Amino acid sequence: MNNEHELIYEGKAKKVFSHDDADKVIIEFKDDATAFNALKKAKFEGKGKLNCLISSRIFEILKNENIPTHFIALKNENTIIAQKIKIIPLEIVLRNTAYGSLCRQTTIRSGTDLVKPLIDIYLKNDELNDPLITKDRIELMNIISSKELDLIIGLTLKINVILKNFFKNIQLKLVDFKLEFGYDFQNNMVLGDEISPDNCRLWDLNQNSDTIVSLDKDRFRNDLGGLIEAYSEINRRINDFI
Ligand code: UDP
Repeated sequence: MNNEHELIYEGKAKKVFSHDDADKVIIEFKDDATAFNALKKAKFEGKGKLNCLISSRIFEILKNENIPTHFIALKNENTIIAQKIKIIPLEIVLRNTAYGSLCRQTTIRSGTDLVKPLIDIYLKNDELNDPLITKDRIELMNIISSKELDLIIGLTLKINVILKNFFKNIQLKLVDFKLEFGYDFQNNMVLGDEISPDNCRLWDLNQNSDTIVSLDKDRFRNDLGGLIEAYSEINRRINDFI
């Protein structure tokens, strides 16, 4: 990134730089990977580029379906231009199939397809380890109003329908995903962050056996190896389809 653009914020997987237009930002996708609240860290050369390309394609699809998002354009292989937004400190997780923390915290068995999508909301706070939060606690903390929360939930369910169909077309099962929302300059609620194998669970449907083949960050979380190969495969399938 050239020096004219000031680094505004650096997160675990992205850097945010200022843009010439005050209401826009430049977001750079990093090669770093973290898991378990950054207790586990690694670098995967090429991950930033793959997530940037995958996320950009997905945001384009969502925009075409009239989902309000921060995404403006792909700038180059690992940077995008986005609207500057004020992020709401909530992580909205939608689950179609039980896996991960849902199975660790309940008696629901891994791999159970859920009768209807489940939305779990977490407080985005590293110090508190992103705890699961309730609707009443969100109101109590004045994070957002119940009306705004309903808007977020409605958008998340709509996004799930679009993504589930899209991924099915490229032989991937969308198990779960995490979204973040924020407010743009005009105070509109928009989808922010990224949608990539870093924050979606995607299982390969191109398999003969019943074993789960994860093409997502579980390859890193569970030391399965082949993360870049998995992300490249997703990028390849998206490009072949579009
Ligand atoms: N997720 C995420 N960031 C987080 C926690 C979860 O992007 O800080 C995503 C994760 O990739 C998965 C979904 O949210 O697609 C559900 O994750 P889960 O709650 O099962 O947590 P985990 O098992 O990864 O601890």
